[in-house]
Amino acid sequence: MTARILVVDDIPANVRLLEVRLLAEYFEVLTANNGPDAIETCENGKVDVVLLDVMMPEMDGFEVCKRLKSDPATSHIPVVMITALDQVSDRVRGLEAGADDFLTKPVNDLQLMTRVKSLVRLKSLTDELRLRASTTRNIGIEELLSRDFASEDTRPRVLLVDERKSSVERIQKMLRNSAELDVATDPNAGFFQAAETAYECVLISTAFSDFDALRLCSQLRSLDRTRFLPIMLLADEGEEGRILRGLELGINDYLIRPIDQHELTARLRTQVRRKRYNDQLRASVALTIEMAVIDGLTALHNRRYLDSHLQTLFDRAVARRRPLSVMITDLDRFKSINDAHGHDGGDDVLREFARRLRKNVRGIDLACRFGGEEFVVVMPDTEGAVAEKVAERIRAEIAQAPFAIGADGKAIEVTVSVGVSSLLKGPDSVAALMKRADLALYEAKSGGRNRVVAKAA
Ligand code: GH3
Ligand code: MG
Ligand code: MG
Repeated sequence: MTARILVVDDIPANVRLLEVRLLAEYFEVLTANNGPDAIETCENGKVDVVLLDVMMPEMDGFEVCKRLKSDPATSHIPVVMITALDQVSDRVRGLEAGADDFLTKPVNDLQLMTRVKSLVRLKSLTDELRLRASTTRNIGIEELLSRDFASEDTRPRVLLVDERKSSVERIQKMLRNSAELDVATDPNAGFFQAAETAYECVLISTAFSDFDALRLCSQLRSLDRTRFLPIMLLADEGEEGRILRGLELGINDYLIRPIDQHELTARLRTQVRRKRYNDQLRASVALTIEMAVIDGLTALHNRRYLDSHLQTLFDRAVARRRPLSVMITDLDRFKSINDAHGHDGGDDVLREFARRLRKNVRGIDLACRFGGEEFVVVMPDTEGAVAEKVAERIRAEIAQAPFAIGADGKAIEVTVSVGVSSLLKGPDSVAALMKRADLALYEAKSGGRNRVVAKAA
């Protein structure tokens, strides 16, 4: 993972100390000795994470953080506040200023790397979303990015797996206002609960009397449904070895007891945010893929999808010696509908035609917009005689009731011609099957339109 980290501290020795450790992990490091320089660097450069000292003369870390978070150009950059040990009031002020995480001096190496990596990942996700939002004007993403998570009203559903009553009660109290918390005291029950419920984060205690918490972590990582579920380990002082193993297994973060409420809420927020961005990204990828194979006007599959899928259906029918039929429909005199009622009127006809078509085919049939006013329906497991009946039903359904178009719902007569073909018992191919349907359609047109012609198999 490579990223640009800005280290801000008024004491050069402190800057140097963090810089050396970050460089050793191959991060790129920028430095600033005061608040105004830090803000300028964030405005100009591509900063991925800011490590910000609280105590600085003139402009302190809170003020720097507040300014970064209130400027849309820099508000998405994660800020880690570096506070003096046990300064709870500093953490409260940090949260109020919009800080994403905290580290206490002296900064522990493992903590430093875990936090920085976790925030770098979050940042790369938001960058990706911002990029997509700007290129595709994805409304959902814009809304997600502009949302203020601190005042977010949908509290995350979180599962705590912990068998110690006192610890459970403490965490319940800490998260009372920031999460919907469920508790599993038995780790095996916790595993099933995590798999069955849509949690946004799971907190796992390492302190079980006869169960290895890391086993639960690895089980959650290997199950499809929980692969992307953020896991935070609640560990005890001196368990660094276990935490490292956990990080290798794919846990996302950890906290050391005694747990500080502000750290817990800040880190939980980072994990939940990351998960939500991730989910959104995956959904937008799925949407992009879907848009590539769906016709925008009618929401039927498009020709690209038909081209790739028809061969599969054909091969399957041949292999199983099952029938397969295809129909091609073409609206009659569609050009004159466009001429008389405008292109928008024509589009209304196409939408309504698609609706009636969909209504008259089975779920396993593949209905596609082939192009313009031509549609194709592929019917697996269907003999030619049956396909012809289906085609006739569709033809009648179109001709019988007029189409309502335009804002005033003007009624117009529409008819369709249909060509049907079926898989031959002897050698056949997709191209030949389509060709026969096309010839049948041509016959239906030349025979007077508003009719079905089937090519006998
Ligand atoms: P025929 O009965 O012989 O099929 O006559 P036709 O007018 O339907 O024949 P043709 O295939 O020549 O015309 C199809 C027309 O469909 C031409 C084109 O402008 C129109 N068209 C194609 N795609 C769209 C579309 O997305 N929306 C609208 N409104 N019209 C379209
Ligand atoms: Mg045509
Ligand atoms: Mg036509």
